Parts: sequence; structure tokens; C-alpha cells
Amino acid sequence: MKEFAYQRAFDVPGALALLDAGSDARFLGGGTNLVDLMKAGVERPARLVDVRGLPLNRVEPTADGGLRIGATVTNSDLAAHPEVRRRYPALAQAVLAGASGQLRNMATVGGNLLQRTRCGYFTDVTRPCNKRVPGSGCPAVEGEHRNHAILGASGHCVAVHPSDMAVALTAFDAVVSYETADGPGELPLTEFYVPVGDTPHRETSLPRGALITGVILPPAPVAARSRYRKVRERASYAFAIGSVAAALDVEGGVVREARLALGAVASRPWRARAAERALTGARADGEAFAAAADAELAAANPLPRNAYKVALTRNLMVAVLTGLAEEAAR
Ligand SMILES: Cc1cc2nc3c(=O)[nH]c(=O)nc-3n(C[C@H](O)[C@H](O)[C@H](O)COP(=O)(O)OP(=O)(O)OC[C@H]3O[C@@H](n4cnc5c(N)ncnc54)[C@H](O)[C@@H]3O)c2cc1C
Ligand code: SF4
Repeated sequence: MKEFAYQRAFDVPGALALLDAGSDARFLGGGTNLVDLMKAGVERPARLVDVRGLPLNRVEPTADGGLRIGATVTNSDLAAHPEVRRRYPALAQAVLAGASGQLRNMATVGGNLLQRTRCGYFTDVTRPCNKRVPGSGCPAVEGEHRNHAILGASGHCVAVHPSDMAVALTAFDAVVSYETADGPGELPLTEFYVPVGDTPHRETSLPRGALITGVILPPAPVAARSRYRKVRERASYAFAIGSVAAALDVEGGVVREARLALGAVASRPWRARAAERALTGARADGEAFAAAADAELAAANPLPRNAYKVALTRNLMVAVLTGLAEEAAR
């Protein structure tokens, strides 16, 4: 592991100044992803600026009835927060479905959003990988891709985004707030992650050197009836092979509003807009749920060894929507 310097920041201007102070530096949240990648030689920063001492560790209501989540709130604190559990239950469920208790105690919201893919070629520095070394190739297309993308991929990279939390945030129209030396900015999560295209090494539209300061959840009454369901190869401590965050508002047996996002299917959390459109105004029954899933997955383009994900995701969407509709009917 390459030697590196370690510095702590205690306010936002101080963190930006430390990052900007010369040698190749990176912000450090809980370190649960970055430090692993440094040990593997994938990341080689000369300096780490620890942001856990910043005053960004609160979950607070916003004036319009949403929530503002600070970037250094730990995954454990986020999942346990009473307002998150009450107003956005799928978000609490998604966070609890990720990693382990010890990891969630360390991991931060900012770090979770920026965690890197778990593609085995990306973390093996002896292999080519367009995401790690642009232009070197993508061995996953012809090789091991069982857990790779079925939507929105390109021939340059077929990896999926690993975050559970980001899937629920995407369903609820979350907005990422950040600070740079030039001032603050905001990015809806659907624009924060960029399509993979021919630049898989460029994963977000966050300006270079920006510090994520928080995530804003707009008010969403529909989110109070929401669920996150994750399928993985073992019961805990494993990444998703498919996941769904969904919220449903049903009145008189008809869907008034639906929110849906999918995980482990694309290089970014996948907002299922075609399914949402198909659901709005439809009867809240199995036939409509299957039709909505099919509308979304019509764009799926699986690889030879991950076609199972199309059926898995379809079944997951139908099961989650059915559960929410049954709850609404009680
Ligand atoms: C064994 C294991 C199992 C896991 N299972 C799951 C799982 O099932 N589901 C899941 O979603 N995740 C899982 N994870 C991933 C885990 O959730 C992430 O490692 C964690 O959320 C990253 O947060 P962190 O604060 O530790 O980030 P760090 O490792 O500290 O940082 C990650 C990246 O974010 C950057 N960064 C951090 N904070 C900021 C900021 N405020 N502004 C700008 N940049 C910042 C860092 O520079 C770095 O590039 C697992 C991890 C492990 C090790
Ligand atoms: S899928 Fe992406 S991360 Fe994996 S080897 Fe190909 S380029 Fe690298």
C-alpha cells in the first residue's frame, strides 16, 4: 500500500482548502470502501482528508416538509432515525439491507453514494478494466458478468452500482448538495450519476474536488407507504443481485401515484419511469403490476450469463407492488 498523509477537517471551508492544498488528495468518510481500494492498489491518493469531524452529521426537517440528511450521518444513524422510518420507510430498509452492523456504524451517506463498483476486474489491478484504466478494455463482457448490468450498459463497461441506499433515494427524487471552492451546488440524484457511455471511469457529474454536504429528500407523502426488497445470494452481508424500492398510493383500487427504482441492474440506480407511467391510473392488481414491469424491462439487454436478472427483477417488482397494494387495501 502506498504511503499517504492523513488530515482531519473540522469545517467545510477547511475541508475544501485541505483537499486543494497540492498533492493528490481524497476525502475520507468511514473509509469502508476507499481504504479497501487503497489496499488493493486501485486507489493511490497521497493524502486523505477525514471529513467525519464536519458538522454534517444531522438529519433535520426542511421547511417544506422534507428531510435534509448530512453527508457524515452514518448509515446506522440514518436507518434508525424516527422520521426516516416514518416518512421514507424504504430508505431505512434499504440501508439496513446493506453491509453489516459494524460497516454501517462507520459508513457515511456521502461515502455510500460514491462507493465504487464490486466488479471483480475493477478491483484486480492485474486485469484490464476501462473503469480503472480508460481504454484498457472490459473483460467482463466476454468473461464473468453474472451480476452485471441488464439496462443502460455499453460495450465499454457493464458493471452495476452497488449501493442499496442510493436506490431508495432515487425513487424519492433526492437531491445531492455539495460545496466547492467556487460555491455551493445541487444535483438531483438522477443527474448525479451519469450514463456509462464510453467514459465508464467518469461516474458522477459532481465537480472535481467537490465535498458532498448532504442529501435533500423533498416531501413525498406517497413515500410513507414504501418498501425496499433486495435479493442476494446469501441472507446477509452480500450485495444485491436485484433490488426494488417502491412506493404506492392507491385509492378505490386505482393507483394514484407510484415511485419505483431498481438496483443491481445498471451502472446507476435505475429510476423505473416507464413502469411508473404504466401504473399511474391503472388498477392496483397483479396484471397491471406485471405489465408495468414488462414496460420497464422491455429495454433490457442482458449478457449471456445474466439473463436471469430480467425475470428476477420482474418478479421482484410484481411482489413488492402486490405487497404495497395489499397493505393499502387493509
Ligand atoms: C464487506 C462489505 C459489504 C458491503 N455490502 C454492502 C451492501 O450490501 N450494500 C451497500 O449499499 N453497500 C455495501 N457495502 C459498501 C458500503 O456501504 C460502503 O463501503 C460505504 O457506504 C462507503 O461509505 P464510507 O463513508 O465508508 O466511504 P469511504 O470509503 O470513506 O469513501 C468512499 C468514496 O467517497 C468519497 N467521499 C466520502 N465522503 C465524501 C464527501 N462527503 N464528499 C465527497 N466525497 C466523499 C471518498 O473520497 C471515496 O471516494 C459493503 C462494504 C463492505 C466492505
Ligand atoms: S464491467 Fe466495467 S468495471 Fe468491470 S471490467 Fe468492465 S469496465 Fe471494468
